[in-house]
Amino acid sequence: METIEELLESKDIRITAMRLLIYKFLAEKQVAVTLSDIENAFEKADRTTLYRTVKTFEENDIVHQIDDGTGITKYALCEQGCNCDIKTDLHLHFHCNNCNKTVCLTDYKIPQIKVPNGFVSENVNLVVKGICDKCST
Ligand SMILES: [Zn+2]
Ligand SMILES: [Zn+2]
Ligand SMILES: [Zn+2]
Repeated sequence: METIEELLESKDIRITAMRLLIYKFLAEKQVAVTLSDIENAFEKADRTTLYRTVKTFEENDIVHQIDDGTGITKYALCEQGCNCDIKTDLHLHFHCNNCNKTVCLTDYKIPQIKVPNGFVSENVNLVVKGICDKCST
């Protein structure tokens, strides 16, 4: 296990207090979060800084975006070693219709999806909707 500092350094991201805090916040959440979740958690922080931090994380494959169909983009931490590669790293997401949570199902990779010649895939979102384990019991 590398530390957060080592992880950021390995991606050539300068370590700042804010970046460490946001990383820890995402790591503690077991669910995907929206930008407003992050804003609410860091009320005193500048919104632009928060937004830029998330973007920096996204560009460096530390977090990935999830479009769960709710119309609000969510973010979740990537697994270690993730390159957000469309063939190897993308996984299923599950959206609970009862508690509205979206979680990463990292053990369930998205099967390779063939597109016609001349088409280039850049991103795939596969969201299963239903009732999560906490709500179904
Ligand atoms: Zn990733
Ligand atoms: Zn649920
Ligand atoms: Zn995910």
